[in-house]
Amino acid sequence: MKQFFILIIKLFILSSLTILVMNFSSIKPKKYTVDQLIGKEKIQFYGKGYKLQKEAYFSIEKMIREAREQGVKIKIVSSYRSFNHQNRIWKRKYDAFIKKGFSPKKAVEKVKEYTAIPGTSRHHWGTDVDLSNGKSKLINSVNVKYSKWMNENAHKYGFYRVYTNNKFRAGYKYESWHYSYRKLSKSMLEQYNQLDLVKILKNEKIAGNKYFTPSFIKKYKEDNVLGINDYLY
Ligand SMILES: [Zn+2]
Repeated sequence: MKQFFILIIKLFILSSLTILVMNFSSIKPKKYTVDQLIGKEKIQFYGKGYKLQKEAYFSIEKMIREAREQGVKIKIVSSYRSFNHQNRIWKRKYDAFIKKGFSPKKAVEKVKEYTAIPGTSRHHWGTDVDLSNGKSKLINSVNVKYSKWMNENAHKYGFYRVYTNNKFRAGYKYESWHYSYRKLSKSMLEQYNQLDLVKILKNEKIAGNKYFTPSFIKKYKEDNVLGINDYLY
């Protein structure tokens, strides 16, 4: 009888431990590879005509559906972009400035005013989107039904503006259209922050990357990578 009780107690402890471990692993953020964080290796994506990670996909579909029911149209203009895709955008803009007579160093400065260096865009993560009302292009308007709806509701689906109009924020200009799915992107940013960007970007074929000195990258990281909505880190 005594042994039976000991067995019951042992089983109880074992099952409690299992439940604890299961709970812990379900709240533990997913670990990404370096290549996934810089857009060189695919993560599992979902979406028709766009690419987002599973949870972000389900959330945005719900947001689009419920907005539509309330008479508001939301269109996904851009979602996941690979390293190579970003590199093509970067190169095209860099070449255009060189053609205009800018020095390579100055061309780098000009391109990064509006465009992320390949390997540093949040669009690599499958958590961020550029949204519009379907009619206008990406504009910073506030007085339309769409913007009002987004201001009041996007957070209910886990989406937050990244490049806010907070005048104390450094880096990219205000982008009312760029939203991030916080639940995933917050931990991705934490992991991204651990990367040695100087080393990574030096080894890639990126126009003008010989000007990516440690001090340049330090400032770029502070302004452009971390110059975001406080709520996202
Ligand atoms: Zn964007």
